[in-house]
Amino acid sequence: MSSHREPTIRGEEEPGGGEDRALRPQRLAEMVGQRAVYERLMIAVDAARKRGDVLGHILLDGPPGLGKTTFATCIPRELGTTLQIASGAALAAPKDLLPYLSNAAAGSVLFIDEIHRLPIAVEEFHYPAMEDFRVDITLGEGVAARTINMPLRPFTLIGATTRPGLISKPMRDRFPMREHLDYYPVEDLAEIVRRSAAKLSMPMDDDTAGEIARRSRGTPRLANNRLRWIRDYSTSRESGRVDPAIARTALEMQGIDEIGLDGFDRRYLETIRRVFGGGPVGIDAIAHTMSTAPDTLEDDVEPYLLRCELVIRTPRGRRLTTRGEEHLGSLPGGGPQGRLF
Ligand code: ADP
Repeated sequence: MSSHREPTIRGEEEPGGGEDRALRPQRLAEMVGQRAVYERLMIAVDAARKRGDVLGHILLDGPPGLGKTTFATCIPRELGTTLQIASGAALAAPKDLLPYLSNAAAGSVLFIDEIHRLPIAVEEFHYPAMEDFRVDITLGEGVAARTINMPLRPFTLIGATTRPGLISKPMRDRFPMREHLDYYPVEDLAEIVRRSAAKLSMPMDDDTAGEIARRSRGTPRLANNRLRWIRDYSTSRESGRVDPAIARTALEMQGIDEIGLDGFDRRYLETIRRVFGGGPVGIDAIAHTMSTAPDTLEDDVEPYLLRCELVIRTPRGRRLTTRGEEHLGSLPGGGPQGRLF
């Protein structure tokens, strides 16, 4: 098989249409950063290719926007095989998963995003598919029910999750490879910004790339989104010119501060400080007060704020740290009604 064959995308659309796809690395070698993960995946892919074996199942976890889908879409390209994409949230019953399993070509990749959202019945149906490449299908009901055993072509499952803690142990144990993606250091994000700017035919010096990287919450997806906004701003207001001051002004217009937090992140911090006296407070109380879902806070907001030690988790709930207080501006005039940045 040629390693240059484009993977066939069946099932759902490839995530992120248009420009997102234009910026997404197509090959593993184009991925910036995450060197340890990259090396291990390369070895596994290379070994499978050399032996003509099917690559073992891989579980990728980490906060949103760090490259789980990108790794999952690059791997079949390296293997020269096909890819199917499904989302755990859409696989409500075993019958929803069955078409993906029966369509899977020998050696192909099935990517299930948000795999922690698979209901237990679907998980259990999936175990023999992962282990022995077969599924047990029950036909009929009651005393007339019988189970038939359907063999599958061997395939590789790549699961992605933002919440590894919600994956059952039997499911987790069936992945021989488990990789965690962490937030990107500023230098790696700056490199992603430079490469994306080149793809968008945008002039970009190192200082500006660094400025955008520092304000992107360690997350490539945000770096790319912020870069696109700066491009719009610069086209509209600055005749296409970009420098660090222009980047700062454009991002401040979106409420993005000097460490990359947006208005929603700050509202979370402000809620803990103003409504709950700095905590400790439970996630549900914060979510109710902010009229949002606890999952949104746990997936999108908290991981980075915890990582920056602006908040901590205690057995009694979330608590603002001194650093969090300082970031909000503890002087009179700072805080929710006053000037923040
Ligand atoms: P996730 O699946 O973890 O939510 P994605 O794989 O969709 O994240 O990544 C979001 C975007 O960020 C991609 O479209 C890609 O452009 C960019 N990206 C992610 N990781 C990298 C990387 N290591 N190098 C370059 N770009 C990356």
